[in-house]
Amino acid sequence: EPIIQIKNVTKTFIGKDNQVEALKGISLDINKGDIYGIIGMSGAGKSTLVRCLNYLEKPTTGTVVVEDQDLSTLTEAELRKVRTGIAMIFQHFNLLMQRSVLDNVCFPMEIVGVKKQAARKRAMELLEIVGLKEKADAYPSQLSGGQKQRVAIARALANTPKILLCDEATSALDPTTTKEILKLLQDINKQYGITIVIITHEMAVVQEICSHVAIIDAGELAEHGTVEEVFSRP
Ligand code: ADP
Ligand code: ADP
Repeated sequence: EPIIQIKNVTKTFIGKDNQVEALKGISLDINKGDIYGIIGMSGAGKSTLVRCLNYLEKPTTGTVVVEDQDLSTLTEAELRKVRTGIAMIFQHFNLLMQRSVLDNVCFPMEIVGVKKQAARKRAMELLEIVGLKEKADAYPSQLSGGQKQRVAIARALANTPKILLCDEATSALDPTTTKEILKLLQDINKQYGITIVIITHEMAVVQEICSHVAIIDAGELAEHGTVEEVFSRP
């Protein structure tokens, strides 16, 4: 059952004296519970595609349907609600450096109006899930890259998203730490049924945890299917 349907999506960036066709008509279904890899070279259009899934980027043409809602038909208020259900993590973690680990995890809950006490309680539970309870009072600058990404994952889970978008989330990490973070993502997928979309330029990441994969090449969908299907094709 598709949780995300991408239909004929194009995106053209118009510059002063040039235009870039970042996406040239992409159609793709992502099913509930998938760990879906989006792989391709730098500049292929992966980030643009994934940013279209939460309408941080609006497609030039085509439609994006999330949980049966065509995003182009929604009001800003409705879009904000959909976005609460779509969390994101990044290559550089994007933590708030002036706030403690606990307060970083509380932040998205504060935004949607969760009471301080309740937010802190849930944040501690989330830190336990990602294995960082003892770092609750530390600051991001005191953490390793892998620990920072764990905090970012805890923060991403704060408002119980249905979908987690990961944009090169392991690209700044060493191979051992990468494996640990991928294992955590896999556990989260299994335990909470969260659909995960992973953008990466690394084949190994896809082969490690993805159920499905789409290969994006110069704004076009080159291949897609289960990992077995795509990688066993001649
Ligand atoms: P990837 O994530 O695969 O590296 P991107 O989606 O970031 O690729 O970029 C795809 C293409 O779109 C690139 O040519 C990039 O330069 C261009 N692009 C991305 N964002 C913008 C933007 N905001 N304005 C203009 N061009 C952009
Ligand atoms: P890029 O150069 O790839 O676009 P940046 O280095 O500019 O990425 O980082 C993007 C965001 O992440 C910025 O808001 C920055 O403050 C934050 N950031 C960068 N490095 C770290 C880090 N080590 N820990 C926490 N946040 C970081």
